[in-house]
Amino acid sequence: MRSSILISGANGFIAQHIIKLLLDKGYSVIGTVRSEAKGEQVKEVIHSDNFSYEVVPHIGAEGALDEVLKRHPEVTVFLHTKSSASVPTDDVENNLLLPAVNGTKNVLQSVLTHGPQIKRMVLTSSVVAVFNWFKKFDPNKTYTEDDWSPITWEESLKDSEAGYFGSKKFSEIAAWDFVKEKNPSFKLSTVNPAFVLGPQAFEVTKKSQLNYSAELINQVIKLGSSDKIPEFTGLFVDVRDVAKAHIAAFEKEEAANKRLLLVSDRFTNEGLVLIINKNFPESTVPNGSYEKDQEQLSRALKYDNSKTKKLLGFEFISLEKSVFDTIQQIYSAK
Ligand code: NDP
Repeated sequence: MRSSILISGANGFIAQHIIKLLLDKGYSVIGTVRSEAKGEQVKEVIHSDNFSYEVVPHIGAEGALDEVLKRHPEVTVFLHTKSSASVPTDDVENNLLLPAVNGTKNVLQSVLTHGPQIKRMVLTSSVVAVFNWFKKFDPNKTYTEDDWSPITWEESLKDSEAGYFGSKKFSEIAAWDFVKEKNPSFKLSTVNPAFVLGPQAFEVTKKSQLNYSAELINQVIKLGSSDKIPEFTGLFVDVRDVAKAHIAAFEKEEAANKRLLLVSDRFTNEGLVLIINKNFPESTVPNGSYEKDQEQLSRALKYDNSKTKKLLGFEFISLEKSVFDTIQQIYSAK
């Protein structure tokens, strides 16, 4: 039997892919969820004796993880995928920023006190902790793993979106500071994904089971042939690569103390429409223009994640495959 892995937010989009891959690789997995009903839902789709769940209603509360850690001395790796949440709120500081930062510190403190055998910890951060997403990015700059979003605490208070950006940055900083100050027995790595596209890990029978990323593509598929294509440029990575990266982050010695910048490519809505027309001729989307796609991409943010790619050692899934697989799943759901 290989090591046991603890993963928070086990019913999440990314977490389910990680769990699937971990089980395929022979690991035992314990997932935290907020309710028994959610734990049972995960168990139902996963069907494995090597998966179990623990109900932790408020994982960020002080000591919330203590009992789980005491019950599972076999855990040697902790994947904290639920480091902050994106929720619409009028009180960004109390509902987004402080819970994210204090929650991260509390979770790390529990591991420090009750998980001395835990050797690796992976925190799911985001590109919004790396890139200058809040203000206009510098068109002459190429962003890398070494960059930090300059968003301030005060700027994060502006609205829920800014609050999410700030919550990812400040909770990641809290984790790195914790490790520097307390010198725990575990080594930290962070995974900083771009917009995560790709199918759900398990078969989807209802459209309500699709997540926000699929929703972005779903909005484009719904366009009629004479509709205007809303201009949108973003960076993406496929969820299956995000799952692989979480595992490499603790399996590879050289990933310790690193931030892994997960970007496969840039994309535009115009480009999504071109892919949909090519692969799904029955769709109603407008024609799309290759020239507009290229022009919009030429103004998109520049990044260089070659250090991450070299460390991971695998090719990221292309936009076309990611979009194709996502749409196939959307079409098959009712
Ligand atoms: P999902 O929304 O699919 O899953 C989030 C998980 O966190 C769920 O298990 C959810 O539980 C749990 N959760 C949410 N709020 C709370 C809370 N207040 N307390 C306890 N648990 C909570 O998220 P993703 O899989 O998309 O994202 C996972 C991580 O990846 C997040 O940290 C996100 O910031 C990061 N990320 C995601 C990107 C994306 O495009 N998807 C891009 C970059 C980073 P419940 O079902 O009970 O609400």
